[in-house]
Amino acid sequence: MIPQSQADVIFADWQDELSHAIKTPALLLQMLGLEDRLQAIDAESLKNFPLRVTQSYINKMHYGDVSDPLLRQVFPLIDENIEVEGFSADPVGDHLAISSPGILHKYQGRALLLTTGACAIHCRYCFRRHFPYSESNPLASQWQQSIAALQKDSSIREVIFSGGDPLALTDTKLAAMVEDLEKIPHIKRLRIHTRLPLVLPKRVTKNLLSWISNSTLRVVMVIHANHANEIDAETAEALLQLRNAGCELLNQAVFLRGVNDNAESLIALSERLSEVQVVPYYLHLLDKVKGASHFDVAEQQGIELIAAMRRELPGYLVPRLVREQQGEASKTIIA
Ligand SMILES: *Cc1c(COP(=O)(O)O)cnc(C)c1O
Ligand code: SF4
Repeated sequence: MIPQSQADVIFADWQDELSHAIKTPALLLQMLGLEDRLQAIDAESLKNFPLRVTQSYINKMHYGDVSDPLLRQVFPLIDENIEVEGFSADPVGDHLAISSPGILHKYQGRALLLTTGACAIHCRYCFRRHFPYSESNPLASQWQQSIAALQKDSSIREVIFSGGDPLALTDTKLAAMVEDLEKIPHIKRLRIHTRLPLVLPKRVTKNLLSWISNSTLRVVMVIHANHANEIDAETAEALLQLRNAGCELLNQAVFLRGVNDNAESLIALSERLSEVQVVPYYLHLLDKVKGASHFDVAEQQGIELIAAMRRELPGYLVPRLVREQQGEASKTIIA
């Protein structure tokens, strides 16, 4: 763990912590006692998708550990410059599935809204790293259009807030959006895909809990933990509050070399999720995005590790190993 002098930084609220996110590789390494131990890509290559990590997330990294699984997820290693065939800028074809502005409609009965381009941390394996909207706010200017499109399509039962990270928006904005959705009778569920309870637990505010518990929609939150170390006491408390507000909690992880590519860490993640009452839902094979080839693990290894998990865990703690395939109407279940 990192020394008290740094771990003890007190932030007024989540926005304060967010605005003080760490953005330079050298500073992050210094905070972890790892000066010059890892080589980052050059500043020019970093421009489009800079390093970005919150103090809360750094606090969960181990001081002096060059292979820390959390550090690996956010540190822009020189390996990002390796060009590997088959790794492209838009591996899942999201540019093709945009039906009206800000809405992705590639899953039956579900509409995915790109609520914001902003994230509290930048995960180096993220397939959105090359998206043109990465720092923009695609929904703000066209919310009325999106609502009209959702009203017209009565096949839509579920609205998914995606991004970026939807919880990077304020509660005032989110509550107003949810209020508009609640007026559409065919919409029954709201799903929120977010990493914030893990990387910025302060984001779980009274106001957030209040609009969730008051919603007439069933609210499902899909968090994104890749490693058991991401769930410390503060995050566990935030998750408990979300559950108490009536949120169903699921986890999706990405299968990542050097982070969770062995049975012990996948089992530890499932056990930890169970302790905080989150269901392990998906384990995604990496989307082959340019700059992330150093995270790739062979599919066969994934299949073997799922089998190893199944031998040791109850079935409900074994996630489905899935791949996102361009043009497919659902995920492809691998194991
Ligand atoms: C797979 C996926 C969905 C659909 O999820 P299901 O749980 O299979 O309904 C929605 N959004 C994103 C970003 C996804 O990757
Ligand atoms: S969209 Fe999710 S995975 Fe991608 S950078 Fe943001 S928080 Fe990380």
